[in-house]
Amino acid sequence: LHAAYDPDNIFAKILRGEIPSVKVWEDDDVLVFMDVFPQSEGHVLIISKTSTARTMLEMEPEALAKVTAATQRTAKAIEKALKPEGFSVFQYNGDAGGQTVFHLHFHIVPRWSDRPMKG
Ligand code: 5GP
Repeated sequence: LHAAYDPDNIFAKILRGEIPSVKVWEDDDVLVFMDVFPQSEGHVLIISKTSTARTMLEMEPEALAKVTAATQRTAKAIEKALKPEGFSVFQYNGDAGGQTVFHLHFHIVPRWSDRPMKG
């Protein structure tokens, strides 16, 4: 849980443009992009562009506030665009917490009662 930030993690490479991503929203503070292995239609990830926190424990409150505000804005946009019946927001910390990419991120997974979540 308390290892050093790896500047070559996948999301750092996405932020540097070294590997491609399908961007949904970008400003000075945050990037919202499509998850490459979506658990449902419209599964997106929200990350900070300014913070190198691996987990929620490390993130500066100001940067975390920007990420959560962007998560809410994105959820509203998804609600309008895809009209899901519900949606799940989740965020994993540490190997044991289910985290696989160690640059803090939130997931939004749109949900429909007749479509079970994949993966
Ligand atoms: P977590 O760390 O929260 O368990 O999940 C990391 C998420 O990043 C997974 O949902 C996975 O599908 C996604 N992911 C892993 N590699 C890439 C990638 O190269 N591009 C994108 N867009 N998503 C990725």
